Amino acid sequence: MDKTIEYLMTILRDKKTTRPQFRSAAHQVSRILAYHVAQKLPDKPLAIETPIAPTTGITFQRPPLLIPILRSGMAMLPAFLEIFQDARVGIVGLKRDEKTAVAHWYYHNVPSFDSETQTVILDPMIATGGTGLEVLKFLKQKGAAQKNIFYAAIVSAPEGITAIRDYFPDVNIICASHDNGLTKDKFITPGLGDFGDRYFGTE
Ligand code: URA
Repeated sequence: MDKTIEYLMTILRDKKTTRPQFRSAAHQVSRILAYHVAQKLPDKPLAIETPIAPTTGITFQRPPLLIPILRSGMAMLPAFLEIFQDARVGIVGLKRDEKTAVAHWYYHNVPSFDSETQTVILDPMIATGGTGLEVLKFLKQKGAAQKNIFYAAIVSAPEGITAIRDYFPDVNIICASHDNGLTKDKFITPGLGDFGDRYFGTE
């Protein structure tokens, strides 16, 4: 693993980490994930002029559509908007039943898009993969092409990755840390605990 990510993951995992430290580390990891997504987006040349001379740079062919999953995905949004400043944003809300770990929809407001649009799901924790699968099915039904879907996560469990790969083998999963597994309560181990509670202060 990249040393910067390993350093930031250590801060996120440590239960002694304060909320400001946790938020800062989550933001920094998200920014690295956004850089990795950017590497894979189609670009095109852009003629510009520096104060000294004309030159050619690049720009993205189209702005991506960012899809944060409420509520933890909102923690990743500011970092992605720093990199993709003209991205559109679609919000989806699913809540994981604490006992069964089954995801239930309670909200969605996603702008229309076509199969060439790059969509980027923002979801810090891929545990069972249940929530992610629901969102992927939703995007597919709205016309998204798998190869143009990116799934940005901070920590994943193998169970979740397998569940997503079984149904959506061509989705691009960009994840900072692949952890060991799930506890009986469906928390990722070693993981970092409840991401949303630590980030939003509801623990
Ligand atoms: N969601 C979390 O916040 N943490 C986990 O370990 C699993 C799902």
